[in-house]
Amino acid sequence: MKKADYFEKKENYKVICKLCPRHCMIVEGARGVCMSRYNSGGDLYTENDALSALGLDPIEKKPLFHYQEGKQILSIGASGCNFSCNFCQNYHISQQANVNHIKKTPEEVVEEAVILKKIGNAGIAYTYSEPVIMYEYMKETAILAKKENLINVMVSNGYIEEAPLKAILPYIDAFNIDVKAFTEAAYQKHFRAGFQHIQRTLELIIEKKKHLEISCLIVPGINDDVSEAQAFFSWLAGKDRTIPVHINRYYPAYKATMPATDVEVLKAIADAAMDKMQFVYMGNI
Ligand code: SF4
Repeated sequence: MKKADYFEKKENYKVICKLCPRHCMIVEGARGVCMSRYNSGGDLYTENDALSALGLDPIEKKPLFHYQEGKQILSIGASGCNFSCNFCQNYHISQQANVNHIKKTPEEVVEEAVILKKIGNAGIAYTYSEPVIMYEYMKETAILAKKENLINVMVSNGYIEEAPLKAILPYIDAFNIDVKAFTEAAYQKHFRAGFQHIQRTLELIIEKKKHLEISCLIVPGINDDVSEAQAFFSWLAGKDRTIPVHINRYYPAYKATMPATDVEVLKAIADAAMDKMQFVYMGNI
């Protein structure tokens, strides 16, 4: 258990979490929306010694196609998420608390990553569920990893406040940001979240010249409108048209039962991306 880095104390032992733009108001004994932060005695805490998943993956699986190609990366995740997408493929760890069954401290993760260098490990990826919700664990691990010349990769939905993002940016080498929709209205309707926060995250990453790739899981009825995709990729190309883009096909998972994305629709969205961006990949087909 570790005290959270970003929160504000309120009256009657309440706290407001300031890590992500949800700004959960949490009463004593309760957890925030992401289930990973809890109020104990009027302070906000998070776990800092356990993970829900750990594995050695090819870096292309994150996906990162233009960074450390051919390398492996030790990948870790914790339970919980600040989104609750009904098509989540990792819902067994993202949509519940207390599934951090792998007892490992940041020091132990870094030790393991160093040992794995022998078989091609380049560093550590914070992934599987949303790494923002394991922010303190991730930051501590990333700082230790840099001292061992390991790279740090964050695979995220990008829903994080500006101050914590700026504080961790110096230690993260590469990002894959999952852009779940292309308009403010779609983000509000389907995720009760603000698209402008995701755009701000992308801008900060680009500004700091970190390696960035973008993933878009194309889900019927959420982000399969070609004109909305065109507008987003036009905006992105204005920042940097060499950012690799992954256009992925949705398949039913978790609570989502609608059929897999029509391949022609996927191609149309990929075409819209290719119109503006230099590197576009289609995935899950
Ligand atoms: S990180 Fe979790 S507790 Fe904090 S504001 Fe976001 S969803 Fe709420």
